[in-house]
Amino acid sequence: MTLITPSDDSEPTALAPDPERLDSRAARAWTERMLVDRREDDTYAVTTESGHTYRVDLREHSCSCPDHRIRGEQCKHLRRVAIEITARSVAPPGRERARCDVCGSVTFVPRDDGPPHRCRRCALVPGDVVVDRETGNRLVVASVLDERADEYVIEATGETVAAYERNDGYPAGDRVVEATYLSDTRRSSSRRYAFPQSRLDRTDESLVA
Ligand SMILES: [Zn+2]
Ligand SMILES: [Zn+2]
Repeated sequence: MTLITPSDDSEPTALAPDPERLDSRAARAWTERMLVDRREDDTYAVTTESGHTYRVDLREHSCSCPDHRIRGEQCKHLRRVAIEITARSVAPPGRERARCDVCGSVTFVPRDDGPPHRCRRCALVPGDVVVDRETGNRLVVASVLDERADEYVIEATGETVAAYERNDGYPAGDRVVEATYLSDTRRSSSRRYAFPQSRLDRTDESLVA
């Protein structure tokens, strides 16, 4: 078992493709002014410079413009919606734009998911070393559950994680994280404890077996 401090795990990427290598439709999808608006039904209204508005349905891979309807082409509107989703300026179907409660950056969360929200960078994953804000103890994340703090019942006490005295003041809708004490990890059977996610602060370290 080793403690590691990971370097930035993201790969170098270009912000835009090389325009000389794009066909003209793809180039226009990048360079023309368009306004993309996500609608309630998960389709997108794309308004062009000339003031036309077309309806793009990504799941059907369709657009209401003549280019797509008549000529069956992968039109610039469809492409533009895909570009804006990748650039995180509009939400993908089924997801909503939200602010990460830890770092404040924009993230996309499942539509039914209530607060608090965490972006991918701030979300805890198994192996993360965290600090308990109440005690200062260091723990290792074992699993991040789908259950909320007000749903998960602690076996030993029969009360939920949210109702547990020490978790007063943390959001009831927090995801429950099971973690083991770092000092316990060398023992054969280290016990897992349940915490509301917000009570655990991430460190730069993670534990690899
Ligand atoms: Zn189109
Ligand atoms: Zn974040």
